[in-house]
Amino acid sequence: MTSTINTQTRLCAVIGDPVAHSLSPAMHNAAFAAAGLNYVYLAFAVHNLAECMAGMRALQGFRGMSVTIPHKVAVMDYLDHIDPLARKVGCVNTVINAEGTLTGAITDGLGTLRAFENAAVSLDDKEILFAGTGGAARAVAFAIVEQHRPRGLHILGRTPSRLEQLVNDLRAATDIPIQSGTLATDLTPAIAASDIIIQATPIGMHGHAETESIIPADMLRPEQVVFDMVYRPMKTQLIKDAEAAGCVSILGLEMLLHQAVLQFELWTGQKAPETVMRHALIEALQEHS
Ligand code: NAP
Repeated sequence: MTSTINTQTRLCAVIGDPVAHSLSPAMHNAAFAAAGLNYVYLAFAVHNLAECMAGMRALQGFRGMSVTIPHKVAVMDYLDHIDPLARKVGCVNTVINAEGTLTGAITDGLGTLRAFENAAVSLDDKEILFAGTGGAARAVAFAIVEQHRPRGLHILGRTPSRLEQLVNDLRAATDIPIQSGTLATDLTPAIAASDIIIQATPIGMHGHAETESIIPADMLRPEQVVFDMVYRPMKTQLIKDAEAAGCVSILGLEMLLHQAVLQFELWTGQKAPETVMRHALIEALQEHS
């Protein structure tokens, strides 16, 4: 944000309900300031999505939106274009307003791929385990099969219908071998067979089994890579276990950071000041914990 808000200031905002604890304003306002851009980022709790989207379309200075729960699927009805990856995943977390034309994208999966790149971890020719079959696992799995060539995926879920839906949709999108199973019965062989473990359940999250890990510590091997999507606490029990076992570990905050980095780039057309955004995110996480 420049020091003066004036007629040229562009607006970006997160919409959802609730948004009070969103970390996005901290990251994006720090990024706009560091880049010297006349943009401001706010948070709006939105109950009437139709009116909100009509408002964005009418306000040409309203350049970008982050979309969060509960609007990530419903917002697709109000857009002019939806990028092919977001269509496959079935939801949108980013809207770009180009003079009243609204385009939807999803940056969670591609942002996660950047987090792996930053950690110098290749996803090609690897066996990858997903523990969890929710929206976040879905976004990352589609980005992986679109951009990489893993040797195989092991998708484990809790609710059979959600597991089946994700596995069927992925099989329609890729010929990469996919094994599916339940977290209750198939975790041990899947961990043993995997090079990369992606933890995509809330287990280990602050206020939700914080001292627990879905992956038994004694099963981790130093050559494995562990990514835990949970970012509160910053270092979950799983990440502590992975570090103790000598694994490369990737924190959930890296996914949160890089999905925002990609949003910044979509809205501004400029490379994001990633280091500034990481510091702002860590500071905001520490304030809120
Ligand atoms: P979601 O759609 O609710 O899916 C959660 C998944 O975890 C589902 O497969 C669910 O199974 C499973 N699950 C929940 N509680 C479980 C338990 N006690 N035991 C076993 N499985 C359980 O959530 P999501 O949006 O995919 O998010 C998943 C996690 O990623 C959350 O912790 C979220 O905070 C985190 N996340 C992080 C980022 C980031 O930027 N780092 C972004 C998005 C999400 P059912 O299908 O049976 O419910």
